[in-house]
Amino acid sequence: MRGLAAVPSYVVMQPTTLCNLDCVYCYLPMRAADRRMPVPVAEAVAASVNPWAAAGRFSVVWHGGEPLAAGREHLAALLAPFGPAVEHHVQTNATLIDDAWCAFFAEHGVRVSVSVDGPRERNAERVTRGGRPAYDRIRAGVDALRRNGLPFSALAVVSRPVPGLATELYDYFLDLGCDVLGVNIEETEGVNTRTNAWDAAAVTGFWAELVAAWRRDPRIHLREVEWSLRYAGAVLDGTADDLLPRRLDPIPTIAHDGSVVVLSPELAGFTDPRYGDFSSGNVLSTPLAEILAGAGRTPWVGEFLAGVEACRSSCPYFGFCGGGHAANRYFELGRFDGTETEHCRNSKIRLLEGVLEHARDHKSPAA
Ligand code: SF4
Repeated sequence: MRGLAAVPSYVVMQPTTLCNLDCVYCYLPMRAADRRMPVPVAEAVAASVNPWAAAGRFSVVWHGGEPLAAGREHLAALLAPFGPAVEHHVQTNATLIDDAWCAFFAEHGVRVSVSVDGPRERNAERVTRGGRPAYDRIRAGVDALRRNGLPFSALAVVSRPVPGLATELYDYFLDLGCDVLGVNIEETEGVNTRTNAWDAAAVTGFWAELVAAWRRDPRIHLREVEWSLRYAGAVLDGTADDLLPRRLDPIPTIAHDGSVVVLSPELAGFTDPRYGDFSSGNVLSTPLAEILAGAGRTPWVGEFLAGVEACRSSCPYFGFCGGGHAANRYFELGRFDGTETEHCRNSKIRLLEGVLEHARDHKSPAA
């Protein structure tokens, strides 16, 4: 895997910077301001995306702020330029979902992923702008999805991995009824400066316990664990070299104003004296396909690609990880060409070790 691919597999779109919640661990810098994406930005993105979608599977992920805070009418206007082959996803805190939003999702074929961190007491840091717990509103949104028969994914942030938590979380999400679950250990990035340095054994134990809970009742697609098992299987088959794509997916984020930030949505909205605003161009003046063709020349991207090569030559987990995320390097190390971060320790190295620990502890006596 070397360099950036010219065509991504999906784009992230920011319909508004606004979020109606004010979660303690949020990384977004402008979440109190309602800066909406103008329709010409969506038209410009669609001009590149529609041909890509006609040639193969392609997704647009609507991710804010809180994307539903843009309102149904405006979101419909932003969706309109995209052709029928484009798959739409929304990442939402669910607090605004009601029957009318469910009808909108069904009409526009939008797949929903809900951010929820587990049972009520695990959502204490998810609060409204007035500082009140948001859990009941999140749950009401999920109930609306279920009432309307809409399948949904869930994304949980784990702020502190402790023994027993993984089993509790998995059982909660089984009951919630999601069909896919992603688990993120909280990251130090954006305006969230809280530490994410945890005891290695606690994090490895968290992942091992999650695998055990999932194996008891594997009804949910568990993103991190299934990827780890796929990698372990490919290593055993001798096909691990074929698992990562040949080139990095640029994953362009289109900010509300049309500026394009590749590789890490978390960098959008930030500026740095060395790296400027991290953008590689703006779709209002340059076609997205053209911006991506030249994105490797964005100065910080070149530095990041040097970091990926440093990972390749120094890290035994490279084949599993592919070199980590740009935003984690920047916000933890202050630059892009470093290697290990607390994020990659928590979410790559200890994840794989947790899966292997589970396998070791549960190997059959005959093996
Ligand atoms: S686990 Fe960390 S050090 Fe290893 S390849 Fe990934 S980002 Fe680089």
